[in-house]
Amino acid sequence: MTSQTTKPDVDGEKKSAPKKDTTSGVADKAFVAGTNILEAKEIAETGYAGVVKIVGKDSPVLSNMIQLADKLVDVGKIVPFIAPAFVILKIIIDIEQKAREVDEKCVDLMERINFLVSHLVVLERIHNVEAMMDTLTAVQDTLKEAAALIEAYRKQSKIARRLRMSNMQNFEQMAGKITTCSSDLMMSLQIQQTGDLSILKRVVPRDRIAENFIRENGGQDMINNDPELVKKFAEKVNLTMSDQVMEQMQSNMQELITRNQSQIEAIVHESSSIGVANMIKAIATHQRELEAELKLTCVQCDKEYNVSTNGPESCRFHSAVGNYDRYHCCQKTSPCQKGYHQPEHHSKYPYSSFFLWSYGILAPKDTVAYWVNIKEIDLEKDDDTIGQVVRVGQLIRWRSWGELVTTPLMLVNVGHVKDDMPYYLEVFDVASLEDTRKMILRTGQTCIFRNAPETETAAFSMGEWVMDQETQQISGIKLTVRVASSKTPTVCIVPLDPLLLKMPDEASVTYHSRCSGGAYKPDRSYEFPETIQLGPVIPASRLREPRSFRTKISSPNIPLLLTPAWEMVANNNVKLANNQEDRFRGTWRALNRSPLSSQKQIILLSVKFEYRLMGEPTYKPVKSFALRDGVKLPLTIAPSQAIDIPWEFLVDKPEHCQGGSLLAINYAHLTIHQPLRLRVICTDIEGEEVSLIQEYVHGVIGATLPAPEDLGFFFVDKIYECQRTSVRISKSAYPDRYLLGITAGFDPMIKITEVDLRKIVAKAEKTGITEVDMKLGVRNLGIDWNIWALVDLSCRRVYGFKVLLYHGSMTKDRVSASLGYAPCPIYGGDDLETRPIQYAEESKIVPTVAHWED
Ligand SMILES: [Zn+2]
Ligand SMILES: [Zn+2]
Repeated sequence: MTSQTTKPDVDGEKKSAPKKDTTSGVADKAFVAGTNILEAKEIAETGYAGVVKIVGKDSPVLSNMIQLADKLVDVGKIVPFIAPAFVILKIIIDIEQKAREVDEKCVDLMERINFLVSHLVVLERIHNVEAMMDTLTAVQDTLKEAAALIEAYRKQSKIARRLRMSNMQNFEQMAGKITTCSSDLMMSLQIQQTGDLSILKRVVPRDRIAENFIRENGGQDMINNDPELVKKFAEKVNLTMSDQVMEQMQSNMQELITRNQSQIEAIVHESSSIGVANMIKAIATHQRELEAELKLTCVQCDKEYNVSTNGPESCRFHSAVGNYDRYHCCQKTSPCQKGYHQPEHHSKYPYSSFFLWSYGILAPKDTVAYWVNIKEIDLEKDDDTIGQVVRVGQLIRWRSWGELVTTPLMLVNVGHVKDDMPYYLEVFDVASLEDTRKMILRTGQTCIFRNAPETETAAFSMGEWVMDQETQQISGIKLTVRVASSKTPTVCIVPLDPLLLKMPDEASVTYHSRCSGGAYKPDRSYEFPETIQLGPVIPASRLREPRSFRTKISSPNIPLLLTPAWEMVANNNVKLANNQEDRFRGTWRALNRSPLSSQKQIILLSVKFEYRLMGEPTYKPVKSFALRDGVKLPLTIAPSQAIDIPWEFLVDKPEHCQGGSLLAINYAHLTIHQPLRLRVICTDIEGEEVSLIQEYVHGVIGATLPAPEDLGFFFVDKIYECQRTSVRISKSAYPDRYLLGITAGFDPMIKITEVDLRKIVAKAEKTGITEVDMKLGVRNLGIDWNIWALVDLSCRRVYGFKVLLYHGSMTKDRVSASLGYAPCPIYGGDDLETRPIQYAEESKIVPTVAHWED
C-alpha cells in the first residue's frame, strides 16, 4: 500500500496539485518526480496522520521515514552510492522506535530529514550521478551528524534534555545544516522548488518553560552545578529526578555527539547494505501489513472498510438530509455522491449523516460550554434563520445526557450547519490542534473557514487562527461576523491555551467591534404614566357573604324550623337559561320540632315567594315559582321529621339585558350589582304563617387576575357578560428561548425574542417613529386592543410597551377602556456601555367612553 490510498481527504484542499509538464528532459522529469514526492509526503502527513492517530500507532513522521527508507532501498539498487543514506535512516528509525515518548525536537528534525531525503528518490532517474558526488557526500555527512545528535539527545533523561540549552543550539545548528544541504541538493538536481519550503524555514520548537527557568535562576552554569535547582525544575514540570541527571547535565555533549558520529560511521562502513536493505524492507512490509489489517467504520455510509483499499470511489453517500428515503440533494434513494470512506466526522463537504450528528451536539444545552457564541441576524430581513453564527467552546459530552468526555476537546463552528449552506464544524483535541499548528507553519494559511467568497463583504462568518509569533503556538481564534443590516462587523478574539485546550485562566474574549444594532444600558430606570382604567370593572371579590336568617313564626304553636339546605344558585341549568328571566333555585329543610309522642303533624297548605334587591324598600312578588322534584302541596311533616323542599323562582332580568343574544349561566343579570333577598311565607292548615329569608349574592365570575410573572396586565370588562378581555405582558419562563410573552384576548401567547426587539429598534432608527405598532392588535371584535413598543433611540432598545384596550365598534355602548404601560426587561447582555435614556415620542391617546349609568 502506498500512502496515497489512505488519503481520507477527497477535496484535495490546500494541497498543491501536481504540475503537468509536457516538455521532456531530465530536469523536468526530476521536477515532476520531486513534486510528486512532496505531494506524497504531504498526503502522508495529513491523511495518514489521521488514521495513525486513531489506531494510536507510531508517530506519522516515523512511518513516513520508514516509507522513504523503503523507497531509498529501491533507488539504491540503481544508485548503490546512496546505500549509506538508508543505513543511517535505519539507525534513526531504530532509535526512535525504541524511544518511549514522542519528542517535539526529534519530530521536527526528522521532518527536516525526511524533506532532505525525499529528494534523493529522484536519483534513480538521473543519468549523471557522478557529477553530483560532492553534494551527495555532503548529504550523507549531514545525515550522519543528525543521527548522532538524535542518539546523543535521546540518551539524556527528560530533565537533562529540557534543561540543557546546548540541546536547543545543536538542533538549531542541525536545522541550518539541513537547509543548506537541501538547497544544494535541489540545485544539483535542478528541482525548481518554488513552493513549499516552510519545513526548512520554520523555527525549531522551543521549550519556553525551561528557557525561562534557566534565565530566572542565574544561567546554565548555575544550574549545571546545583542539584537543588535541577530538582526544583523537575518538580515544576512533574518529572522525577534520577541519580544520572546531574552527571548528564555536566557531561560534554559535543564529545558525545562526535563519539556517536564515529560509531555511526563504523556501522555504515561495516554493515552490508544488503542486510540493512532487507531489514528496512521487513520493517516497511510490517508497517504496510499493519495498515492493511486496519479496519475502520465510515461515518458517511456507516460501513466497515479496509484502510488499504479505501479509494476515491469507495464510499457512497448523499450530500443532504433525507425525508424518509428521499434525499434533498437528488430526490432519490440511492446515494448520489462518491468519495473516500472517512473514519471521523468532518465538514470538508456535506454528507447526510453529518447533520444528525452535528444536531446532536449543537442543539442540546448540556453538550458544549461555549466561550463565545455569536449569532447575528439581518435585522432588515424577516427570516430569522438566515444570519451568521460563530461559536467556540469546550465540548463536554457528545450528546445530551451522554457521558462526560475526559480529554479536553474544543468545538469550532463557523456558519449555520445546513445542507444548503457552507459551514464548518470541527472538534479538536490537543493532537489535532498540533497538526493544525504544523499546517499553519508550513502553509502560512491561518483562515479556519469563511462561509462566503472573499468578494462577499456584506454578510459572512469567518474564523481565523491567531499565532503567537514568538512561541509559534496557536494563541487564539479570531472570529468575524458581518450582516448586511450592520455598518460594522462583530470582531472578537478568543484566547486559547493550545496545550490545555481551553481559555487561559482569567483571560476573556476581547471584542474589537460589534455589529451595530446592539443595545446600550440605560443610565436610569424608565418611568411610566399611571394606567387609565375607564368603565365598570368586574369586582375581584364578592360583594359580601350572604347573611343567614332565623325562621319567623306567627305563633309559638307551630313548631316548624326552616333552614336553607345550601346556597341558592342562579341559572345553573344551561338548557333552561333564557334571555328574559333569571332563574334561581334552592332547597330548604323543614323540621317538625314536636316530640314524637305528641303526634302533632304540620300540614303546609300554601307558600308565597317575594323578593327585593338590596336598597329597595319593599318585597314584591316573584314572576313565578314552583316546588320541584315532585314535591306537592299540601305538605305533611310528621313529628320529629325533616323533609327537603326544593324550589325555583323566576324574576325578570333588568330591561337592558332582556332580549339580547346574551345568556347568563351560573349567575344572574339581576344581581350583578346588588344582592337579592328572597322571602318565602308558608301557611299551615290552621292559618299560621312561617317565613324565612335567604339571600343570593353574586360571586366572583370572569375576573382573571394578574400573575406574579406579569410585567403588565391590562383589561376591559363586559360587565353583564362577566367577561374580561385582557392583554398581559409577562416575563419569560424560559429566558434562553425568548424574552417575554404577550397574551392578548383568548389567543395563545406570542413569544417575543431579543431579535424581535432589535428588529423593532432597527425599524425605528430607519423611520424615526419611536412608538412602533407591534401589529398584534385586534379590531372589530367586541373589545379591541392595540400594542405599541416604545423605542429609546439613545439606548437603542425597546424600553416599554403601551397597551390600549377599548370597546370596539361591535359593542353598542362603548363604556370601557384601558390605557397602560408595561416595562420591558433589560436585554442585550451584562457588559453594555451606559447611555442616557431618551423616551419615545408617543401619539396622544385620550381614551373616551360613553357615560356609564349603572
Ligand atoms: Zn443524493
Ligand atoms: Zn463510506
